[in-house]
Amino acid sequence: MLIELLKEWNVYKEPIEPNAINPVELEAIHDSKYIDAIEQVSSGAVLNGIDIFGLGNSDNPISLGMAEGARYQVGGTVLGAKLLIENKAKKVLQLGGGFHHAHHNLASGFCLYNDLSMAITEMVNHGWHVAYLDIDVHHGDGVQEMFYSNGNVMTISIHESGEYLFPGKGWLHELGQGSGRSLKLNIPLEPFSEGDSYFEVLEKVVKPALSWFKPDALVVQAGADAHFADPLADNLLTTHDYEKIFRQIIDYADKSCNGKVLFTLGGGYSSTATPRIWALLYLILNNLEMPEYLPENWKNHWEQILGKTIPNTLHDKLPAYEIIPRRDEILKINKDVIRRLMDSVSQYWI
Ligand SMILES: [Zn+2]
Repeated sequence: MLIELLKEWNVYKEPIEPNAINPVELEAIHDSKYIDAIEQVSSGAVLNGIDIFGLGNSDNPISLGMAEGARYQVGGTVLGAKLLIENKAKKVLQLGGGFHHAHHNLASGFCLYNDLSMAITEMVNHGWHVAYLDIDVHHGDGVQEMFYSNGNVMTISIHESGEYLFPGKGWLHELGQGSGRSLKLNIPLEPFSEGDSYFEVLEKVVKPALSWFKPDALVVQAGADAHFADPLADNLLTTHDYEKIFRQIIDYADKSCNGKVLFTLGGGYSSTATPRIWALLYLILNNLEMPEYLPENWKNHWEQILGKTIPNTLHDKLPAYEIIPRRDEILKINKDVIRRLMDSVSQYWI
């Protein structure tokens, strides 16, 4: 939907094609037995006991060719990392990736291979310090876990609290271990959090964290599932909020790491909102004008396929949703979470 939309606007540039990563290379972050199981069931083998790897359930079903597809996604994100390392680009958008729930030996939440962790590892092996920022509405548990004790990687996840949402993790006290201590930041937000809470997190947590850590590059998981129309979660971002968040992140990257930033996509389950959000990201990164309206052809075509009405504008019309009860209380609770997090980490950030 996104690519067709960009083509309809005549702004789509042919991407640099990645290669699928080799299964052996994945051993940098995944267990060889786990990789082997995925590769085998993906080519039609019937294996017993794959549930220990999180495979074959409703979130991570087996389908033919899934391993190659997942390796191709990893290849794309790793290519993005290489473009930054080789100084061939400053800002990269991987039109895919963002599989932040994949663990060392466990598939989880629609994720098999962790493209983000592979890209971060590529950068760390080059001697870089890397900051990872995850705005997907779900906690970026796989990435955090893989670098939990790593002093070269800062992870920041802004998500709806695990008290209410998958994967049920990402608490304030998860601050990292050993040399990774104080480098793993989690901001569990109340359900129905709005843009104001996100801007507060950016200003009070992300900005000081990046200016203190001074990464060589920023990797962003730009999940679109914090949008108010998303069916899997409760947070209430609008496209206007997303635009502001994207611009803010790019500004932080310009100031803290010489503009080097790699964006991936991620979750996003509202078919009417997600393509508009990622189109915004594409337009911003390419310094293009924001068209006010969506192309009629595209809208009609996808309305027929989806059986849903798509708004006729790129941005949500405001007010996007009815004022929610407890609005002030939610912002207050989130501000308190931010204060408690900063109290815990500031003792380490000297
Ligand atoms: Zn998500």
